[in-house]
Amino acid sequence: MTTSDLNKTPHDVLDQVFGYSNFRLSQEEVISHVLRGEDCLVLMPTGAGKSLCYQVPALCLDGLSIVVSPLIALMADQVQALRAAGVHAAALNSSMPSEEQGQVMAAARRGELKLLYLAPERLLLEGTKEFLRTLPISLLAVDEAHCVSAWGHDFRPEYLRISEIRDLLGPVPCIALTATADEPTRKEIIEKLRLRGAHSFVTGFDRPNIQYRIALKDRGREQLLSFLKAEHPRDAGIVYCISRKSVEQTAAFLKGNGFHALPYHAGLPAEERNANQRRFLDEEGVVVVATIAFGMGIDKSNVRFVAHLDLPKSIEAYYQETGRAGRDGLASTAWMVYGLNDIARQRMMIEQSDASDDKKSLEHRKLNALLGLCETSSCRRAVLLNYFGGEAAETCGNCDTCLVPVQTWEGTVEAQQALSCVYRTGERFGVQYLTEVLRGETSERMERLGHDKLKVFGLGTSHSKDEWTSIFRQLVASGHATVLLDSYGGLALTEKSRSVLKGQTPVWFRSDVLAPRSKKKRPSSGTSLNTQFTSKENELWETLRSTRLKLAKASHVPPYVIFHDATLKEMTQLKPRTLDELRQVSGVGDKKLERYGREFLEAIETVLSTSD
Ligand code: ADP
Ligand code: ZN
Repeated sequence: MTTSDLNKTPHDVLDQVFGYSNFRLSQEEVISHVLRGEDCLVLMPTGAGKSLCYQVPALCLDGLSIVVSPLIALMADQVQALRAAGVHAAALNSSMPSEEQGQVMAAARRGELKLLYLAPERLLLEGTKEFLRTLPISLLAVDEAHCVSAWGHDFRPEYLRISEIRDLLGPVPCIALTATADEPTRKEIIEKLRLRGAHSFVTGFDRPNIQYRIALKDRGREQLLSFLKAEHPRDAGIVYCISRKSVEQTAAFLKGNGFHALPYHAGLPAEERNANQRRFLDEEGVVVVATIAFGMGIDKSNVRFVAHLDLPKSIEAYYQETGRAGRDGLASTAWMVYGLNDIARQRMMIEQSDASDDKKSLEHRKLNALLGLCETSSCRRAVLLNYFGGEAAETCGNCDTCLVPVQTWEGTVEAQQALSCVYRTGERFGVQYLTEVLRGETSERMERLGHDKLKVFGLGTSHSKDEWTSIFRQLVASGHATVLLDSYGGLALTEKSRSVLKGQTPVWFRSDVLAPRSKKKRPSSGTSLNTQFTSKENELWETLRSTRLKLAKASHVPPYVIFHDATLKEMTQLKPRTLDELRQVSGVGDKKLERYGREFLEAIETVLSTSD
C-alpha cells in the first residue's frame, strides 16, 4: 500500500483489495467500531469471515497493524493470501531464517508494511518490544483469543502477557477474535486482554452451508464409497477414523477405488505426514484419511465434505471437525455413520484413560450428548445449536432428519422385553445372543444355560433381527442400558432401566433406515457443485480449476490463494469475456485482476469458442 491508498473507506478496501461487494454478518459493525478506536471481542463461527474484521481496518488506517496468531502455519497462509491480493503483509516467527526476519523488520521500519503477524512468544521478547516501540502502530488484533483461557483446550500461557504489549502501545484499539468461546471464556478474554468497554460482537454458530447427515453403520467403508461416488467424486475432503490401522486400511481402500486418498496419523514419519498435508492443501481433490491428529490449523477453504467413519468423543469435537468443511460458504456435507460398537469403544476408551473420576464422568456425559444427536428424530442443526446455547429454528431444511423425516414408533413393550431379557440372562450377553433369545432361536448353548426356559424366550418373533439390533442400540444410546466395559459387548441395566421396566416411562424409537435400501428417498443435496452446471459449464469449471492449479504451482502457493472455489463457480456461471466483467466476479480485486485476469479470460474464451 502506498500513501495514496490511505483514508480509503471500508467499502473501497473490500471491493478493490478483496473483490467482494458486500460485508457479511456483523463485519461492517465491527470494522466501524474498530475504526472509532474502540476495543472489542468478535465471536464468529469458522468460515464466517473474522479475518476481514481486522484486515480491512488495517488497510484503512495509517501505520502498521499487529496481528497475534498462535499457529505458524495459519500465519503463513494468511500472509500468502494477503500478498496475492497485493497487500504488504509479513510474519515474524522463530521458524524463519534470521536474515529474513531482519528483512521483515527493516521493511516495517521503512513503513512499507501494513500488517505484521507475530507469534505470541515472539511478541514478548525484549527485542521485539523495543522494536515495536519505535513503530507507528495503529491496531492490535489477537486471533484465536480463546487461547488466553487456562481452562480451554488450546491454552497458551504467553497469551496472558499480551496485556503488557497493550501498555507499551498506548491507546491503540485491540480486537480479539475467536470461533469458540462459551460465556465464561468470553469474560476471561475481556479481562485478560483488558478490553475497554467490554464490547462483544457475537454471531450465531450456525453453518448453514453444511448439510449434516448421520446414518447407521452397516458396512462403513462401502457406505463411504457410495457416498463419495454419488456426491463428491472429485472433491477435497477429510475422512476421520478412530485408529491408525483403520486410517491405513480406509486410505488404501479409497485409493483402490480410484480416489486420490492419503493417510495422516501420528504414527507416520513426520516427512510423510507433512508431505500429505501439503498435497491436501496444494492439489485439487485430495481426500485425507486421518485420525483427529489432522486438522488444527488447516485453513483450506474448499473442503467439500468431512466424513466420520467412527464416532468422535463429543459434540464439541464433532462440530470442530465438521466445521472444517465449507469455509468458503459453498454447499458441503458432514457425513457420519455409527453403530453400537462405536458406543462401546468410546466408553472403553474413557474408562481406560488415566483421567480422574470426575473427568471420566464428564466425558461420559459428553458422549451421551453426542449420542443424543445421533439418535434424534428432530433437526440435527437444532440439536447442535441448542447444545451451544444458541437459538435455532425448529427445522433447518438442510440436515437428513429435515430432508427425510424420521418415522418414530412407540415401543415401550419392546423396550421392556429387551431389558427384561438383559436382566434374566444375567446382564452379560451381547445383542446377538439377546436377540436370539427374544426370537426363540435356540442353540445348544442356550439350552445348556437354560435360557430357552425363560419367560422372555420367543417373545419377540414379530420383530426382525435388524429391528432388535436397532432397539438395543437405541436403549444403550439413551442410557436405558449400558455396554459392559470388561466384556465383548455384553449389556447391563442402568438406573434408568427401572422406570421402563415398571412401565413408568414410555419409550419411543426411530425406525432405522439402512442407507442402501432406501434409495428412493435419498436427500437431494445439491452438494456436489457440478450438479447445477450444464455440461459446457462443467467443462469450463474443470478448465478454470486447471488454470488455477497451473498459476498456483508457478507461484508456489495453494490454489485457493489464487481464487476460492466460490469465485471460480461464479466465473463459470457469469462467463465474463472482458476484464471489466471479470472484475465484477466476487473475489476478484484489483491486484488479482491484474495478475491473473488475462489467463482466466483466455481459458474462458477457449472453452466457449469450441462447439459442443
Ligand atoms: P474465519 O477466520 O472466520 O474462519 P475467514 O476470514 O478465513 O473466516 O473467511 C472465510 C472465507 O470467507 C474467506 O474465503 C473469505 O475471503 C470469505 N469472506 C469473508 N468475508 C467476505 C465477504 N464480505 N464477502 C465474500 N466473502 C467473504
Ligand atoms: Zn435440520
